[in-house]
Amino acid sequence: MKRSHIILLSAVLALLFLAGCSAAKAPPPPVAMEKPLTVTTVPTPDLPTATPIPALPAPALFDTPWDDRAIFAPGLIPSQQDALKELPGASVYHIDFSVSDDLTHVMGKLEVRYTNTEDVALNEVVFRLFPNILDGKMTVSDITVNGQTAQTMSEAYDSVLLVAMPAPLQPGEQVVIAMDYEVAVPTTAGANYAVLASMDDILALAHAYPMIPAYDDVIGWYDDVPPNYGDVTYSDTAYYLVRASLPAGQVVQASGFEIDRDEKDGRQIITWAAGPMRDFYLVSSARYRVMEEKVGDTVVRAYAPGELASENELALQYAVDALKTFNQAYDVYPFTELDVVGTPTLAGGVEYPGVIVVALSLYDPEQPFFEVATAHEVGHQWFYSVVGNDQIHHPWLDESLTQYNTALYFGQVYGPEGYRQELANQQRRWDYIDDADIPLDLPVSAYDEAEYSGIIYGRGGVFFDKLRQKMGDNAFSKFQKAYYHTYKWGVATTDSLKRVAEDACNCDLTPMFEEWVYPKD
Ligand SMILES: [Zn+2]
Repeated sequence: MKRSHIILLSAVLALLFLAGCSAAKAPPPPVAMEKPLTVTTVPTPDLPTATPIPALPAPALFDTPWDDRAIFAPGLIPSQQDALKELPGASVYHIDFSVSDDLTHVMGKLEVRYTNTEDVALNEVVFRLFPNILDGKMTVSDITVNGQTAQTMSEAYDSVLLVAMPAPLQPGEQVVIAMDYEVAVPTTAGANYAVLASMDDILALAHAYPMIPAYDDVIGWYDDVPPNYGDVTYSDTAYYLVRASLPAGQVVQASGFEIDRDEKDGRQIITWAAGPMRDFYLVSSARYRVMEEKVGDTVVRAYAPGELASENELALQYAVDALKTFNQAYDVYPFTELDVVGTPTLAGGVEYPGVIVVALSLYDPEQPFFEVATAHEVGHQWFYSVVGNDQIHHPWLDESLTQYNTALYFGQVYGPEGYRQELANQQRRWDYIDDADIPLDLPVSAYDEAEYSGIIYGRGGVFFDKLRQKMGDNAFSKFQKAYYHTYKWGVATTDSLKRVAEDACNCDLTPMFEEWVYPKD
């Protein structure tokens, strides 16, 4: 029965379905970081500037100049290639790494050209070493800024690395930060829901490189240790050139698209260009078999172990239908590739730019959550990936809207009754915590795990349906497109969502946001 998704979700599943999950061992409390390196204010223009930072070095790992974006063009569908002219200050990552034959260790080199796109001078640039709070271990060495050895400091269970600038980095100034790194990949499912894991002969490399987080006007550098039941990243749109050496015979896929492939001495060396994207994800297994289907200018590829061929065909169908639904509701998916991959993750699904992960435990045609999770994760390509948000402090912006989009998918595929039934399922998640009147716009850490599921994934989807009813279908549709376009490649906030919605309906939504969204005093 295609309507099997109507089945009441069990409490266990409701808790399991976390569209992204982060991890912290034995949940450490959010740490108030004491930064010895403070942000300074910008000097007035006519004052002499501070000691000049050494000249920007040319790339060492790739021949491609830092500003050459032509290499990324084939990853964007023709109508979206103008994106390459935007975001002149987007970070450019060059990464070269090797995965051990047993798929449990990564050794890499990273160079990133970082531009200070903030309004203030920065005394340090922060990197997140997420494996250190995802049950793994990441170490870094030989850290340089424009070729000079850098002073550094680690915080937050070594998940935050502060790299001191030789002189305050003024708005618009650029540096090249380089380092070597190693990752020990966890081989069992621990607190991190196996998002970063080498299990069952499948390697899932989530956030497995030193990554620059967002610098936010309100919070400064994102340097929290997030709760393990939410997403871990909050980052800006960037460009990635990545070369990886893996054992031959592995079927490998990643964010972006392949630009080169070579094989020798029992290894395969693959290079990807990915961007504009907020993260780079890679997954690999000799067990994977692939099937694909084209939607417009985008190829959707589904990867799963060979014995799950018929289930993988379903995953592909769900993803294709979801892509068509959201192409219509918001705007066309901008990239030429979308990968749907089954992994041993304990989260129902997880989103990455250009790649969505669905738990292999859901690969069962009788499992209603298989379709829900796949549609939901595809929806994140619009919200989280292209339109970003602070997933740690304002998770509702991407998760609740993506839940609503999941209902849109069921409406598209099964008609109005499908939409109604999926919203009823989300209402039941809220019912599970007794329809608690908890606001939507709280940090992940303000909810316990059951509340996070019930409010963000239950009440949140219901809110967007109420918003549609309040605004009217035409105004709501206008809002959907305008919100996506206005914040494409950028970062949206609760205020920006409300403002775009009010513009679309020409109405005051403050009372509704006070009832549903805003934190209460
Ligand atoms: Zn999600």
